[in-house]
Amino acid sequence: MKKEYVKHVYRPFTLEPLVDDAATIGHDFKRYLSYHLGRFHGCAPNYIYEALAYSVRDRLMVDWRNTWNEQLQPGNRRAFYMSLEFLIGRALGNHLLNLGIHTATDQAMLNYSQKLEEVIEEEPDAGLGNGGLGRLAACFMDSCASLRLPVMGYGIRYEYGMFRQYIENGYQMEAPDHWLQNGNPWEIERIEYSQRIQFGGYTEHFIDKEGNSRARWISTHDVLAIPYDIPISGYRNKTVNTLRLWKAAATDEFNLIEFNAGSYTEAVQSKNQAEDISMVLYPNDSSENGKELRLRQQYFLASASIKDAMRVWVRHGEMDFRKFAVENVFQMNDTHPTIAVAELMRLLLDEHGLHWDEAWSITSSCMAYTNHTLLPEALEKWPVSLFERLLPRLLEIIYEINAQFLRKVSMKWPGDVERQQRMSIIGEAPYRHVRMAWLAIVGSFSVNGVAALHSQLLRDGLFHDFYQLWPERFNNKTNGVTPRRWIAHANPGMTSLISEQIGDEWIADLSQIVKLKPLAAAKHKAFHAHWRAVKLANKQRLAALVKADCDVDFDPHALFDVQVKRIHEYKRQLLNLLHVIHLYVQIKQGKTEHMVNRCVLIGGKAAPGYYMAKRIVKLVNSLAEVINNDPDAQGHLKVAFLPNYRVSAMEIIAPATDLSEQISTAGKEASGTGNMKFMMNGAMTIGTYDGANIEMLEAVGEENFFLFGLRAEHVDALRHDYRPWEYVEKDADLRAVMDLLRSGHFNACEPGIFDDIINSMMSSTDPWMTLADFRSYIDAQQAVATAWQDTEKWTSMSILNTAASGFFSTDRTMLEYNREIWKLKPINNG
Ligand SMILES: *Cc1c(COP(=O)(O)O)cnc(C)c1O
Repeated sequence: MKKEYVKHVYRPFTLEPLVDDAATIGHDFKRYLSYHLGRFHGCAPNYIYEALAYSVRDRLMVDWRNTWNEQLQPGNRRAFYMSLEFLIGRALGNHLLNLGIHTATDQAMLNYSQKLEEVIEEEPDAGLGNGGLGRLAACFMDSCASLRLPVMGYGIRYEYGMFRQYIENGYQMEAPDHWLQNGNPWEIERIEYSQRIQFGGYTEHFIDKEGNSRARWISTHDVLAIPYDIPISGYRNKTVNTLRLWKAAATDEFNLIEFNAGSYTEAVQSKNQAEDISMVLYPNDSSENGKELRLRQQYFLASASIKDAMRVWVRHGEMDFRKFAVENVFQMNDTHPTIAVAELMRLLLDEHGLHWDEAWSITSSCMAYTNHTLLPEALEKWPVSLFERLLPRLLEIIYEINAQFLRKVSMKWPGDVERQQRMSIIGEAPYRHVRMAWLAIVGSFSVNGVAALHSQLLRDGLFHDFYQLWPERFNNKTNGVTPRRWIAHANPGMTSLISEQIGDEWIADLSQIVKLKPLAAAKHKAFHAHWRAVKLANKQRLAALVKADCDVDFDPHALFDVQVKRIHEYKRQLLNLLHVIHLYVQIKQGKTEHMVNRCVLIGGKAAPGYYMAKRIVKLVNSLAEVINNDPDAQGHLKVAFLPNYRVSAMEIIAPATDLSEQISTAGKEASGTGNMKFMMNGAMTIGTYDGANIEMLEAVGEENFFLFGLRAEHVDALRHDYRPWEYVEKDADLRAVMDLLRSGHFNACEPGIFDDIINSMMSSTDPWMTLADFRSYIDAQQAVATAWQDTEKWTSMSILNTAASGFFSTDRTMLEYNREIWKLKPINNG
């Protein structure tokens, strides 16, 4: 009963570009505020933001239309970035930067007695992601638009994004993030491109007129997927790409059946069930979500997106599906959307009547997979029983993919039954399940990790069997971050200072930032003084945030020592806390002569169901409580936990940081991207030999990086015979730290609450080996303190870090994806 959308064609007209001066922008703002929003005599500040957002969005429209038209030219190959997460943050400031209308808009708002910086603060973060993986997707979108690459993002328009974290009595509390409450001025609903997504039902096999055996999936409970488009502007290049987010809605019939059966309330209930699919982002980072609703989300995204890409392709006159893979490529962000492999097969087989071999050849040449983690708890395994009930036709297809694949394996390694079991897409224990990572590898022509070490560990470890079978499929694409948001937007002071010296081309081509390197020499005294003044102003801005949100006084002249990221044992916030306790012990013993005044800031969300992570949050707050209220610590040490870490907070944090903590257990952090934001903003890194830290260290030189700790291979070797208590026995500093923690000094009113933390660190099976790295970490921190005391030296190292950060732009990452995987032609709309 698909209703065809009737397109009304109107006489073509030209769109005049809008004028970008302060008077016109101000005029548009007034028109939206009064004529569109109906606010006249003062209003809540969010309406000021909304009216301005519309005025700015208008200025994207012509370029958005032109970019669409260019991309849709038949024959133009396109890429689709499929991701369950896009951690976008705010858009207004970013578009002002990209359009080059910040100054004019600032002036326009002043004419209405509004401060632009305050209006910008009214925008809620679009927090449709957990952490690094989701933020990476957002940085990729930015870079693709800035490079004019025809890439569209596909995601889910969650009604509730990442939860809002607040702290009560030191404990993490979670509140829903209803970010759409006041509407979203950036999105455009395109209900005419809705798709029907099937769930449940059963399959029927039959022989068609030509005598081919075919299948149909029937008696399904369908859900509508409605697309919402968000503009992604490029940096001053007239390019506006699209992020298309799907919202779930009930189909009309679905309601009608219930309604006609005389049950109005059941009809409404089924509507709610349909809408549940896009209701909330699952808040787990780096761990699996075995919930049925999560699998529904995954299939909903994959099916809607592939059908949409096919719709566009067919509309442009193509029906020869052998060419589909020539013009379309899908990049799967982790295994989350991997069901797309089976869905594309289903559509080609069942809806378009292709034969298996043809369909497989198309599918496996337009899918590409990026792996983001080696942590076993993050590897997705869906029970076969769930698949059978929810996606019966897809399970059949997965079985057939697996059967053909295992035939290939047995041809290459005859008789190697164990290998076949290891490589089977279907795992048997403890219950039959689908291994999504295996499905992704088998169905893709490209498999990449996200930093050199991580890609190597994939080849040597987790994916070794597959690497032996298909070595050409495996490649590395080291992550990056966009310098537009993370330098130009977040750090305008440093941006002007750099541009005064080397021009401003570095914003669109970060490799040019290396031109700063000569300015690190001590003789450039005035430049160094400016560099420090910018950092100081940024630290004052962060200190104000810390005061407002934590009620802790940070001295902007102190060393700002920062660790912000998801709270996870592998990221080892605990190791940081052991150092904090160590400093506190030193203070109490009067040994302050080698210390520097330090402000330690920790922030990040713990998954609501992750007990240990939540205890770590409590420990940070307990330490802060004791230390900040101890007069002995004054002038030496402050500690704060910043609640609700998010993109807009990071925009204030990174530019103000002196020391960036990147201290994961070696081999566990696939890449990290927070590390790169800090480096670009002139922070020094204290870090392990892990993820992209290694490449940062190579870029800047060991003398400008505080490296410590075991290497990945040492961690693995030590695992078999790990005895953490021996480190405690042998190291008086560590003993003092553990004794003080055990004594209950930081939890006098709540005895025992940190026992589980202590026991985990003391366990021979502690996978994170926190105590093994204690000594090396403390020594590196002492080296930091010594370096900090030499202000000139520190300034020079800071400049060198920024100057060496050119490689870590997502522009470079995207150019590599494009050269080696996507092979797209930049669009020509200049
Ligand atoms: C960059 C970023 C991350 C990723 O940080 P890592 O240190 O790489 O884990 C997570 N959350 C937010 C809000 C970010 O901006």
